[in-house]
Amino acid sequence: MATLPDVTRQHTVLIIGAGTAGAAVASRLRRARPDLDIAIVDPSPFHYYQPAWTLVGGGQYSHEKTERRMASILPADVVHIQDRVAALMPDRNSLVLEDGGHLNYEFLVVAAGIQLNWNAIEGLPDALGKHGVSSNYRYDLAPYTWECVQNFTGGVALFTQPSGQIKCAGAPQKALYLTADALRKRTIRTDLRFYTAGAAMFGVPFYSKALEAVMAAYGAQACLGRELVAVDGPKKIAVFETLVDGLKHSEEISFDFLHVVPPQSAPDFIRDSTLADKAGWLDVDKFTLRHVRHANVFGIGDCTSTPNSKTAAAVKSQLPILVGNLLEALAGQAPNARYDGYAACPLTTSAGRVLLAEFSYSGVITPSLPLDPRVPRRLYWWLKKSFLPFFYWNILLKGRKLASFHRKRAFPDALPGIQP
Ligand code: FAD
Repeated sequence: MATLPDVTRQHTVLIIGAGTAGAAVASRLRRARPDLDIAIVDPSPFHYYQPAWTLVGGGQYSHEKTERRMASILPADVVHIQDRVAALMPDRNSLVLEDGGHLNYEFLVVAAGIQLNWNAIEGLPDALGKHGVSSNYRYDLAPYTWECVQNFTGGVALFTQPSGQIKCAGAPQKALYLTADALRKRTIRTDLRFYTAGAAMFGVPFYSKALEAVMAAYGAQACLGRELVAVDGPKKIAVFETLVDGLKHSEEISFDFLHVVPPQSAPDFIRDSTLADKAGWLDVDKFTLRHVRHANVFGIGDCTSTPNSKTAAAVKSQLPILVGNLLEALAGQAPNARYDGYAACPLTTSAGRVLLAEFSYSGVITPSLPLDPRVPRRLYWWLKKSFLPFFYWNILLKGRKLASFHRKRAFPDALPGIQP
């Protein structure tokens, strides 16, 4: 990785964000075009493998293994500008950095991820990391989740999911299942409750029904339409809002353990720019990943408007589309590769089994293997815990290619036997 020369303020391709999507784009582009001038802006000195944080919170993975120095994962000759983007100026092909400097580009790839809005829940920032309040959505907190589970001696364990889009929409309930499994093994009596602002366990009904069966197997209760709005850590009280006959109703629930997933949004610098759609996401064509108004801007990963599930698995499928279309654009051609909306969510139903939910745009069921994907399987646990981390660091982030096997397959309506 090259350091930034003092006055480099113009790049052919400028990438915002060196997370899953940005780092993979940098590597794939570098392999395709060794001569191309590429720079990547990201303030973080570290890169994280976030999908394993669920396993960390379930005592199944070491959190240190999910962190690597940025310098070790970016291609050697891609310029890393260690700063934060403060504002976008697409009409001038330019952007403003937090340090006040400007960067110009010919082509821009926005891969800034999703913003975690911890402050949107009153009292939450002060409560986190103590009083039995944790979240697998932070590197430093995921080990505390496991500490809480180990110290749990019985009582009420609450798991929350906010309204709106979040990354890995299955992760809030994965935390519940791994906790339930660990407590079941210790025969600890627990009142397990999943408080979600949503109207179902999962956005795709085919999988949602199977997940209801997993909840039932653990004797856990799903409380739908409940939004966490405040937390009192020392008193161990969580406040939820729900709509009753069109009116907001508030209820206080005492807890012994609380796992919180915060509300999320597009990053502020995108929301505040003309590149955003009405909801604040980077406004790209859902098939080509090119911006709908600026032909030299592309977007990938959690920050875009594409209506897929926000996951690293989606990034894996978007990557060849984005890079292919960007290379076409660099050559003055129209983009013609199309993303089908594929995403995957490995739901860790216990320490040992995973229900691998794979689907594409409009909830079309597109598993990679011809096996009923509603069945939690040991094979997918191995995939989640061993193969996918290897794949992430050595294939995806290195810009190497791996074939896709997912395709539309039909399954009977009746639920198969489900053993979490
Ligand atoms: P990120 O990887 O989050 O990267 C965004 C980058 O942008 C960061 O490096 C950040 O520093 C940078 N950035 C932000 N703002 C700025 C700015 N203003 N200027 C410059 N840089 C900026 N996915 C799966 O496929 N399977 C799973 O099982 C799974 N489980 C998950 C469990 C948890 C607990 C979590 C938190 C996530 C999980 N995910 C899972 C989701 C997956 O990690 C994300 O979807 C994926 O990392 C998205 O990649 P991204 O590049 O869009 O965002």
